[in-house]
Amino acid sequence: MKPSSPTAAGIAEAVSYAASHGIIVCHEKHATPGTNITHVPITYHPTPLHAASYHEAVRITPILNLLVSRIAADHSYLRRALFETAAVDPFTHRLMSLLGSSPPDADIYLGIYRYDYFVNVQNQQHSLRMVEMNCIAASFACLGTKTSEMHRFLASHPACNFDINMQNLPINHAIQSLARGIATAHTQYIRRHSPPSTVRTVVLLVGQPGERNSYDQDILRIAVWKEHQVEIIRLTLAQIIDQAFLDEYSNLYVTFPANTSHHVLVTTVYFRAGYSPDDYPSEKEWEARALIEKSLAAKCPSIAVQLVGTKKIQQILDLPGEVERFIDSKEDADAIRATFARQYSLSSTQEGAKAAKMAINNPDAFVLKPQREGGGNNLYGEQLKHALQSMSDNERAAYVLMDKIMPPVVKSVLIRDGEPIYTDIVSEFGVYGVHVMNGTDHVENESGGTLLRSKPASQDDGGVAAGVAVLDSPLLVDYTG
Ligand code: ADP
Ligand code: MG
Repeated sequence: MKPSSPTAAGIAEAVSYAASHGIIVCHEKHATPGTNITHVPITYHPTPLHAASYHEAVRITPILNLLVSRIAADHSYLRRALFETAAVDPFTHRLMSLLGSSPPDADIYLGIYRYDYFVNVQNQQHSLRMVEMNCIAASFACLGTKTSEMHRFLASHPACNFDINMQNLPINHAIQSLARGIATAHTQYIRRHSPPSTVRTVVLLVGQPGERNSYDQDILRIAVWKEHQVEIIRLTLAQIIDQAFLDEYSNLYVTFPANTSHHVLVTTVYFRAGYSPDDYPSEKEWEARALIEKSLAAKCPSIAVQLVGTKKIQQILDLPGEVERFIDSKEDADAIRATFARQYSLSSTQEGAKAAKMAINNPDAFVLKPQREGGGNNLYGEQLKHALQSMSDNERAAYVLMDKIMPPVVKSVLIRDGEPIYTDIVSEFGVYGVHVMNGTDHVENESGGTLLRSKPASQDDGGVAAGVAVLDSPLLVDYTG
């Protein structure tokens, strides 16, 4: 597709669709719900994505889900792998201190992940390159689904006049997949632990105080209720420590609403917070996290799964034989491995020093990643060089180094605050994974819809929440014709 120049009427259709279908976000934190709303920045057109790469990323998602669950079950592996990182990174250290505190009969498992990729192009060959695995608070499933639907609408509308075959705009089912996963974990808990029918059972969404992106969460909460009649309540970690308690069997109860004599039983805890040190401003929040971990509730994620999502584990997985420890089928392990970009340990060994030197000599070829989530934390170019030059050998071990992926640059039109912006973009493609287990029984393991986020090609880092990337959806192209 050649991007047609948008008309004012076309832009107006896009903006009205976004605003009227909940593709919205708060201008600022702590706004009164329902006020201070703007449409989320979006692309006007869907962006071309290599079709075979799209299908391959979707195909391997259940294998990646298995990989995450198996690493998470191997606590001694996690302890060994993260030992040096935890010694220098206090956040990883604190998470590690909670590893193993979940009761043995807490065996309902809910995984909601997003595996993010760039499509790399070299000598006209397209290949998937994984940017990262998100194992906690993978966001934008709902707004991403709605953006896919918006592009289908625009593609069909005379005001837009896109020259697109609708079959190349894949249907995105992320909302339904995540909603079904959450509802299934809830139902499995009830089946396994048989709480009295008089008890009100809920899913607890752990949110950030004053969240700007709460509408993405609300769409999911509402879908879970409408499709499955499962109630999701939303509390912050600070509220949880005031309102939650465990009974003698480690069932997690919450006084809800606060300051009443009503208690609800939490079957499942879905974290949309807790991934950043900023989410734990005091000991209270850590106490809440510890209480949840010690409970029978299904945790999405458990501490173990969150640790699998660290950048360090992803670097280690790139070493020969590591994926293969957990995935028996060579074909499956090879398919996962084929998506990896090279990563390098920065441990306080000779090997780490050698990798640091390589990056200092050629800083534009690498990305320096700390053990953080949420965008805007990585270092590039001169900053990467200076950071590595000024760190001690020990401090260096808190980071990993990764080959910089060079995705293709395409021309696009972004819409921010109702205004078109003409710019070159690169797009990051994410596939949601949904995995529910009851003990060793895999109740659900599926690829759960997709997300495309695009950012100006001039920007190294930063997600939608950080105000850099915008929501997009894929237009599948086979590039062979
Ligand atoms: P976070 O947990 O902060 O989202 P990511 O690994 O996803 O961490 O990095 C944030 C952003 O940095 C990505 O969205 C991508 O734009 C960019 N980035 C990360 N790794 C690479 C890489 N290897 N090559 C190029 N860009 C990268
Ligand atoms: Mg990311």
